[in-house]
Order: sequence, then C-alpha cells, then structure tokens
Amino acid sequence: MPRSSRRARPLRPMAGAVAALLATGLGLATLASAGATSPAADPKVVYLTFDDGPSPQYTAQILAVLARYRVPATFFEIGQNVTANPGLTDQAVHQGESVQNHSWDHPDLRPLSLADFNAQILNTDQAIRARTGRTPTCLRPPYGFVDKTVRARAAALGKTIKLWTVDPADWSRPGIHTIEQRVLTAVRPGSVILLHDGGGDRSQTVAALPTVLTTLQHRGYTFRLLCH
Ligand SMILES: [Zn+2]
Repeated sequence: MPRSSRRARPLRPMAGAVAALLATGLGLATLASAGATSPAADPKVVYLTFDDGPSPQYTAQILAVLARYRVPATFFEIGQNVTANPGLTDQAVHQGESVQNHSWDHPDLRPLSLADFNAQILNTDQAIRARTGRTPTCLRPPYGFVDKTVRARAAALGKTIKLWTVDPADWSRPGIHTIEQRVLTAVRPGSVILLHDGGGDRSQTVAALPTVLTTLQHRGYTFRLLCH
C-alpha cells in the first residue's frame, strides 16, 4: 500500500486529538503518540466506497442492499458511465449517498498532459453536477496511481484525493467468502473499504455485502459518507 493512501484517511480523528490535547494543556510534542492511542481519536467508524460505476447490472442491486441495512456509502463514479446511466446517479443521490469523481474513462492520470487531466476531471464533474446539483469535492485517481503532479493538479481544481485502506480485490472475483473475510479481517476504526459496482461482473460483491454490513454492525461500527 503506497504511503499516499494513508494520507487519504479521514482527518477527523486527528482534529479530535488536537482539541483534546489543547483542552488538557498537553504540549504538541506528544500529539503523535496520543493521537495513535487515544480512544477519542479512534471511533468505530468505517467508510464504504464503490468504484467504477454506475453500472446498469449492479449499481441498483448495491443501492438496494445499502437501503435494506440503512448503510450510507460513497460512489466514485466514471464520467462516461454517469452519462450512459444517468438514472442510477440520480437514485444514489436520492438515497443520500455521496457521489464523487473517479475520472472520465479510468486512465492512469500520471502521464496525462495538463489539458487531458483537466478534461478527465472537469467533464466528470459536469456530468455528476448535471444529475446531483453538486460538484464533487473528492477525486479518487484510477488504480490509486498518484504522484506529485496528480496531487498538485487535483488541488488546483479544488479536489481532495481519497484513496482507501482496505482492498479485498473484489474486482478479481476471488469468491464471495473471500471478499467477506478479506474485509472483515482487515477492517479497523477509520478504515476506507474499496469495493466495485462497475467495470465488470460484480455479482460476488453484491452477494458479499450483507455479511460484511451485518458483521460490522454487530461489531459496533457505524458507517459514514466521505466528501459529503
Ligand atoms: Zn477504478
């Protein structure tokens, strides 16, 4: 896992740690160790994310499972898939999900010219805004490929880069049970879980979802949206 993915973790726990330290008058020198161990900085929250949709076969099925278990999720959508399946982006937003930017057609963003990079991001923004009325605030670069240039260009467009911390490789169809176990053994407070609703056959992901959601709920986790 590249270092950059760790930086994509939510900042709220650290902000909480800062507030707690200021309140108790502790010095900033102890911030790093206190932030790593303080229960207040370690809430049982997870972030469920779905990439590469919307897909006519699987996105509606995933939305139905999320609705059944009352779990919110963040969808990093592909611009050309939004224009091909606009009703599914409507449905996600209507259901209260977060819809964010995953580029127009899923290239490695690193070697692109500035003009091509901007087209990938801004055309996707426009497609999503046309359905949701909101401009995405977050970008998930395809494959998680990020370098200094991608970071600088994303920042220039006002985008926060969000990667993930738990990757069961559901896209490779390793089996329903394997997807469940990979997520459930890796998940920690603050985890960002990567799953896929588009880009291929996602029937195993759909089938794994109820066990993942109910097990995490039984463990006391709550689910929150990213970038919302
Ligand atoms: Zn992707």
